[in-house]
Formats: sequence, C-alpha cells, structure tokens
Amino acid sequence: ATPAATMVGTTIGAQNGVLFKGGDVLERAKDVDTVVFDKTGTLTRGEMELTDVVAFSETLPDGGALAEGENAVATSEDATRGGSTATSEDEVLRLAASAERGSEHPLARAIVDGAESRGLDLSDPEDFENVPGHGVKATVNGDEVLVGNRKLLGDNGIDPAPAAETMERLESEGKTAMLVARVRAGTDGGELLGVVADADTVKPSAKEAVSELRERGVDVMLITGDNERTARAVAEQVGIDPDSVRAGVLPEDKSDAVEEIQADGRRAMMVGDGVNDAPALAVAYVGTAIGSGTDVAIEAADVTLMRDDPLDVVKAIRVSDATLQKIK
Ligand code: ADP
Ligand code: MG
Repeated sequence: ATPAATMVGTTIGAQNGVLFKGGDVLERAKDVDTVVFDKTGTLTRGEMELTDVVAFSETLPDGGALAEGENAVATSEDATRGGSTATSEDEVLRLAASAERGSEHPLARAIVDGAESRGLDLSDPEDFENVPGHGVKATVNGDEVLVGNRKLLGDNGIDPAPAAETMERLESEGKTAMLVARVRAGTDGGELLGVVADADTVKPSAKEAVSELRERGVDVMLITGDNERTARAVAEQVGIDPDSVRAGVLPEDKSDAVEEIQADGRRAMMVGDGVNDAPALAVAYVGTAIGSGTDVAIEAADVTLMRDDPLDVVKAIRVSDATLQKIK
C-alpha cells in the first residue's frame, strides 16, 4: 500500500476502535484465513460468577461422619476415596475462597465474591502458591487447601475420580468446575472436600462475529486452558465447530498450539486478552489484543481492539481489505 493509503486505513481503523501497530499489519490482516479466539475474556465476558457449591460429605464410604479428631489420623486411602469429613457446603466454599484470596484470576475473584456475599468468614491464606493453568494451593487455618482442576489434584497425590460425575455435569452446562481438597497438617493423604463452579457469559456479539467470519471464508477456532467439555459447550453457544476446539492448553503451550495451526501454511489471527495469551499473540500471523486486555497482551499484539467487542475482529479484517483494494 502507498503511505497515503496506509494512513487512511490506519485512521479509519482508529476511528472504529481498531488500532493497527503499523502499515505492514494493516496489509497482513486481509490475508488472515483462520481466527483463533481465546475463550475467557475474549469470547466470554470474563466476569465469572459463582454458581455451584457441592460438598461430598454425604458420600462417606462408611455412611457416617468422622469427628474432627478422628479425621486427622485418617489414612490416605480413606481420604482419597472422597471425603472423610462431614464438610458443609459453606465450609467447602469458605476454604476455597480463603485459598483463592491470594489469586487475581477471574475464577478466584468469583469464588471470593460468592463467599463474601454469603456472609462467610474468610481466613487469610499463607504460603500461597499459584499453579498457572491448574489452580492454587495455600495454607488455610494450618491445613493445605487446593483449588483447581483434575491435574492439580493428581499432581498432589489426590484422586479426583470420586468427583467425576459432579464435574462432568457442571462442565456440560458450560461451567468451570473446580475441585476443592485439603491436606491436614501432619498427614500425607489429601481429602477431596467438594467442587465449586463458576460460570461466565458469552459476549452478546460473539456469535455474530463467528458467523460473519465464516461468511468471509475464514475458519474460526477456540483455544483455552479450560477443559474440553466446558470449551465445547461455549463453542456450541457461539457456533464454533467442536473439531475446532483446542482445550486444556497450558499457558506456556498456547504459542505452540498457534504454531501448530500455522504449520500447514495457514495465516492465523490469534485474538486474546490475557498475560497467558501474549506468546501466542506474538507468534500468530496477526496477534490481536481485545478490549480491556492486559498490558502484556497489548504489547505483544499487532492489533489492539479498543472495545470489548468480538465483532471488531471482523472490522479489522474488513478495514485491511478495503484499504488495500482501494489503492489498486
Ligand atoms: P483460560 O485459558 O480459560 O484463561 P487458565 O489457563 O488461566 O484458563 O486456567 C485453566 C484452568 O486451570 C481453569 O479452567 C481452572 O480449572 C484452573 N485454574 C486456573 N487458575 C485457577 C484458580 N485461581 N483457581 C482454581 N482453578 C484455576
Ligand atoms: Mg483468557
């Protein structure tokens, strides 16, 4: 494009809330044949709300609750069978929220807010540890509390299997279900206490953005650290093919996933909002940071969408297209 055309395109983009980082980006955008959307905060609002709290105390293998003292000496075999204490829903939520106080993750915020709005008395976590893409670990009232996905529990020697049915039910509703477990001080085995779930809502224009991209002949994919079942439920809501979902992708693996998608010569636009997404934005043919995205994402991106609107992805491609056609 001539410098004049580039200037016009860049200006029109800016007037529409689409910031191109340079003339070459403006030129590349029209050649995008695949758009890869991050899920949380990109296709969804990223405003999670606590929706469910499940306590496993009713499913005691021996049919009765152990007293606190007895529980402290429970064998790890008992514990991994799924809950050896009569822990109420409120206590499951209180422990989870206390641990999550240390995290900035939207999933964590929703758990803390949900607990506070129920009037629960939270404790301050100690030795807080964030396990990116998996969850959190912290000491709450002297015991270690874990909140996160199946992998987090598995890696800590706690079998998530007893929660399978509950997890699957919540996930097929499109919710992010998180396991809550506790390792009592001075014991080895952990106990599965329950499950908490957060739900996010899909952005109102996400579906239209997907269908407009499709109409232009652009393939649309979804990439997320969230699990397969939740990811597919969200994909279905916005019209993305189940085969085009890449779920359970760890933060550090997102850029590999984009490279893999591009390996056969595809020109992918990665659209994301989080710190997680920055490396993937950097390797994509066009990296696009959306709306209230983090500074790191914006810095790594070629295009910044000022609004939180997935339809602006279509706008970016359209402005590029129009600019380069006009000058011919
Ligand atoms: P996304 O790609 O959707 O932004 P992440 O990569 O941050 O998701 O997290 C992936 C998964 O790890 C989440 O779906 C959740 O199961 C678990 N997880 C991450 N952070 C937390 C947390 N603070 N508390 C509980 N679970 C978490
Ligand atoms: Mg995200």
